[in-house]
Amino acid sequence: MGHGVSCARTGDEHDFFRAAQLGDLDALAALLDADASLARRATLYDRLSPLHIAAANGHLEVLSMFLDRGARPDAVDRHKQTPLMLAATHGNIGCALKLLQAGANILMFDSVNARTCLHHAAYYGHVDCLEAILSAARTTPVADSWGFARFVNVRDDYGATPLHLAARQGRPECLQVLLEKGAIVSALTGSYGFPGSTSLHLAARSGSLDCIRKLLAWGADRLQRDSAGRIPYAVALKRNHGACAALLNPSSAEPMVWPSPLKFISELDPEAKALLEAALKEANREREKNILKGTKYSMSSPTRHDDIIDDEDACSEVSDTELCCICFDQSCTIEVQDCGHQMCAPCTLALCCHNKPNPTTLTLPSPACPFCRGSISQLVVARTRTPSDPDKPASPTSPQLTQRQSRRSRNLSEGSGSFKGLSSAISKIARGSSRMAGSDCGDMDKPEHDP
Ligand SMILES: [Zn+2]
Ligand SMILES: [Zn+2]
Repeated sequence: MGHGVSCARTGDEHDFFRAAQLGDLDALAALLDADASLARRATLYDRLSPLHIAAANGHLEVLSMFLDRGARPDAVDRHKQTPLMLAATHGNIGCALKLLQAGANILMFDSVNARTCLHHAAYYGHVDCLEAILSAARTTPVADSWGFARFVNVRDDYGATPLHLAARQGRPECLQVLLEKGAIVSALTGSYGFPGSTSLHLAARSGSLDCIRKLLAWGADRLQRDSAGRIPYAVALKRNHGACAALLNPSSAEPMVWPSPLKFISELDPEAKALLEAALKEANREREKNILKGTKYSMSSPTRHDDIIDDEDACSEVSDTELCCICFDQSCTIEVQDCGHQMCAPCTLALCCHNKPNPTTLTLPSPACPFCRGSISQLVVARTRTPSDPDKPASPTSPQLTQRQSRRSRNLSEGSGSFKGLSSAISKIARGSSRMAGSDCGDMDKPEHDP
């Protein structure tokens, strides 16, 4: 990339830009003391300001010095690129933050492809810079003039959004952040790639399995066609990305999708979210294993191995929690606020996946707690309940607890088969309720003889 210092007009200028490139603060200060006007110069050909050079090379001290001396954070070079765009391109997060702090405009477009700093961060995969820019977008005037959602989906000259670029370049972390901030998963490109491509087409082209997994989990459509009439599956096949093609094959099992009502629960508790995401990943890993079984792609990748280790850690942490009352298979790891009802992460996901948008209003009903039907506004990590817990006494505020404990012990004593436990619990509940009307409930858990 042409961020060098060639074509300076005078010897002093050359020394000056050279010192900026090297981050030589002392030399810069001496040169500026001799000629303060150097700070306003730019390189002859590329029109790089000292700020551009410092940002591209990650020299935070130099950058700060120029800003302190009044350099304009939004100076543009020959390609109308700002220092912030160069910091985002090269992943120099310190410089990016400093420029944002100094009021750098995030809504500037370069003259190459009309891309913003957000496009550059997504394209080059610098997720820290991407997050810093998005966080600035919430507070700077851009939020008022453009709106945050529009900024996240800002298009370049070819109709590519930052999400399209992240998918094309195989940047799963950037993809994830953009999706969480409201990037539209079904957006079509203008003339970028094949016209009418979705991010899923572009991920299929790059052969990034991780991007494809994330897009599918976010509800990307495997059947959407680009202007050439191709679905993402055909794109992956053409590029010989066999494992990607297997996941994109419309005849393979439907992926489990991150439940859309949860997307809009504001500030979903980070720990609960991590548990739900792990459950989703696990469900889709199982599905993937079945899809890839018997193909040459079935061997497990190193990243998959790491995931399994993580999951084992998570399991040992929650081993003391109650058994989920819905599936009788997994531990309760998620708790509904404020009713305090608990269930496992896979059941929480399944519950929320049943909510389809209202066809007339297109609004999403918020998911309801399966125990009390109260609407779920927040999910947190389930706390282990012990009799000594002062906040959550075993009774009377948690009527389910004693039942749950007895079901759990019965389930364990009958073996770990979840179906066995489930059928036993159902028959027990049926017997209990038929008996409930006439007798006291106290002997519900006592052994009894069938009539
Ligand atoms: Zn469950
Ligand atoms: Zn509840």
